[in-house]
Amino acid sequence: MVRVRFAPSPTGPLHIGGVRTALYNYLFARKNGGKMLLRIEDTDQNRYVPGAEGYILEALQWVGIEIDEGQGVGGPHALYRQSERKGMYREYAEQLIAKGKAYYAFDTADEIEAMRKRLEEAGADAAQYNAITRLQMSNSLTLSADEVQQRIDNGDPYVVRIKIDPKQEIRFNDLIRGWVAVHASTLDDKVLLKSDGMPTYHLANIVDDHLMEITHVIRGEEWLPSAPLHVLIYQYFGWTTPQFAHLPLLLKPEGNGKLSKRDADLGGFPIFPLQWQDPVSGVVARGFREDGYLKEATVNFLAFLGWNPGTEQELFSMDELVEAFSIERIHKAGARFDITKAKWFNQQYLKGKTDEELADLIKEQASAIPYHSLLKVCHLMKDRVTFPQEILSETTFLFEVPAVYEEAIVTSKWNADAVKAITTYVEDLKLYEGEFIADSAKAIWAAAAERAGIKMGKVMQALRLAVTGAGHGPDLMLAMEILGKDEVVSRLEKALEKLSQG
Ligand code: GLU
Repeated sequence: MVRVRFAPSPTGPLHIGGVRTALYNYLFARKNGGKMLLRIEDTDQNRYVPGAEGYILEALQWVGIEIDEGQGVGGPHALYRQSERKGMYREYAEQLIAKGKAYYAFDTADEIEAMRKRLEEAGADAAQYNAITRLQMSNSLTLSADEVQQRIDNGDPYVVRIKIDPKQEIRFNDLIRGWVAVHASTLDDKVLLKSDGMPTYHLANIVDDHLMEITHVIRGEEWLPSAPLHVLIYQYFGWTTPQFAHLPLLLKPEGNGKLSKRDADLGGFPIFPLQWQDPVSGVVARGFREDGYLKEATVNFLAFLGWNPGTEQELFSMDELVEAFSIERIHKAGARFDITKAKWFNQQYLKGKTDEELADLIKEQASAIPYHSLLKVCHLMKDRVTFPQEILSETTFLFEVPAVYEEAIVTSKWNADAVKAITTYVEDLKLYEGEFIADSAKAIWAAAAERAGIKMGKVMQALRLAVTGAGHGPDLMLAMEILGKDEVVSRLEKALEKLSQG
């Protein structure tokens, strides 16, 4: 059975790229009737940020990624935390030592630094702890067994390092990138267990993937350089290696280079799913959710960052994505973070919402507006906005009588014909006693213009100007329906008075 995991480190807000990784794992699991686990990789206590874990959970929940119950070690929890499994990793490090695949190392930071200096001065290519240098350092390969035991008993700090066999070639078939081959001599003897007893990312990640029976490791391309080491660790344990799939990098909107927080700040768009306030600096980073991106649009946008269905279809619900998804259709090349595409998706999903659904999205900000009016406002605006909050911000003219009139339109459109047509319209409106809806507003206007002997099209913008103060905007007849007859009459009279003075 397919088993995948999303394994974020709680070191800050989850990047939107992390949400894409989670999404691809989720789609793959669902498509194949498999399971998806969430594992919090919190072994690096120096980088732990309070609130980050809650943020990850909330972000996944917002976009609709459901985590399955974990069936593996740790009990029936949806969530695994490596810090809670701490004690166990040491046994695995010791297993590798017993197999001759890892060793204790007692070197202090100063000694390692001195080794680096020495090597650099001698012109060595890479100054690292490896098959050659380890023979000159203080570790269980160079010290006698007694001495090692004594140092451990003394409480000397030590780490456990992997013992890389440099004569080997490491090969694995990445499901996205194809065959990857690396010579083991290029790897260093990475630390597996730190002096505080905590495993490093590499050890904990592999032990857990093994114990949790992960079949596919789907993660960002930044982990590709670590994959050869991971393959070796599996081999040294004698475990089966899962399949790897390294997802393409997210590129700047212009397509050149890796997407950064700075690009987002300069471009005025979010790269975090949810707003995040840094607990130390208090600085707030914007989020897709708070900026008004709908979760459906966010998911659709993310799904297309590195994958495509191979058809013309662009709008996909989560269920449709599950149906269409395959790792074969993920591309190797970096994916341009085209935020205009995200906006386009948002517009599409906004258009598809009912007036009630839209009203629901903004009802808190719109508490002063009666519900039946709010529904009409939503109807008026849904084809014209990119974000739900614009439904209100672009319709202030409905709630405030215009204080000024757009200068250019006054000059070009406010003339004797306009005054005549609008004066007639006011007279007719006052006499009208039927229901005042968009259709009647329009019919009365057409009749008034005709009675005044003026072509309706010529004075349309003047009417809009008188009602809203601006030359452009949403459907005017529907806007007038929302305003109501009395308000329209009062605005028209005010405009006739103000604009005809000068
Ligand atoms: N903890 C790693 C991260 O933060 C996980 C990488 C992996 O999926 O192996 O991205």
